Amino acid sequence: MRRRSGASVVRRAPARPAAHHATGNGAGDPAWTWDEPRWRAAVNKVRAGRSLKPARWKNGARVCVALSFDSDHETSTLREGSTSPGRLAQGEYGARVGVPRILDLLRRHELHASFFVPGVSAKLHPDEQRRVVAEGHEIGLHGWIHEGTSELTESAERELMRRAFDTLTKASGRPPVGVRVPSWDFSATTLPLIRELGLLYDSSLMADDEPYELVDDGKPTGIVELPVEWIKDDAPYLGMNRATAIRPYTAPSAVRDIFRAEFEGALAEGGLFLLTMHPHIIGHRSRIGMLDELIRYMKGVPGVWFATHEEVARYCKAAAS
Ligand SMILES: [Zn+2]
Repeated sequence: MRRRSGASVVRRAPARPAAHHATGNGAGDPAWTWDEPRWRAAVNKVRAGRSLKPARWKNGARVCVALSFDSDHETSTLREGSTSPGRLAQGEYGARVGVPRILDLLRRHELHASFFVPGVSAKLHPDEQRRVVAEGHEIGLHGWIHEGTSELTESAERELMRRAFDTLTKASGRPPVGVRVPSWDFSATTLPLIRELGLLYDSSLMADDEPYELVDDGKPTGIVELPVEWIKDDAPYLGMNRATAIRPYTAPSAVRDIFRAEFEGALAEGGLFLLTMHPHIIGHRSRIGMLDELIRYMKGVPGVWFATHEEVARYCKAAAS
């Protein structure tokens, strides 16, 4: 809706259209008509600044591994306005089966991880959040109902982010310090809102393999970016949606090999291996077994620092200052 009204504004005033598209990803008019200041401003809005890859990891570790789980649960369905019990049950599996299996696995390996939780998931599953925190894991922001951030006005995005912040603060007993924007759909107004909330880090962008500082319209922000990538995410390989063409197309063993190659690359470069997973996807028997194997392999390598996203962000920021 907003895009359409924005487009009509653009047609009336083509010389200064950018201000009307503060949040949207699409302006409505074709990019080949944009003048240089306009495409340059779009590119420079949120940029990668200095690298925050530390010279050495904690206690001299050779590589850092940060495991994360996005507890989308029922919000993957609700976000689309769907109330299908059939589809909601798939998300319910994430809470009933996926998270307990993940927590058991992490406990067996004595590892801590980060869980990014939409506000609605936290309200639907308060006991889960209490257990996650009690077992020493981090809880970070992941939108309100897994909304598409780029579709929101700035005020709606602010309101939802604050509501999610308050909800997670209550659910986990402490204010979250990091955010993963739902679907990594980082809008042109997300960064100022992250700054308003005083967050330490974001984990939604893809400009590097290593941590870096976010730059807001040319100005360094002090916000740490812990970059993600679809290649280091279970969903593209193992996702399934009955109503669309999305099908699991990769065997768990092949996914393990890809993740392992990413880990080995990080090890060779002395860098960060950050993995994004989803309880309703990775929590199945054949897949949690694959994750177990991967963790056992990584633990067998000398000099691996397993850390939560918060620990990584704090360490990199301190090492850079
Ligand atoms: Zn998600």
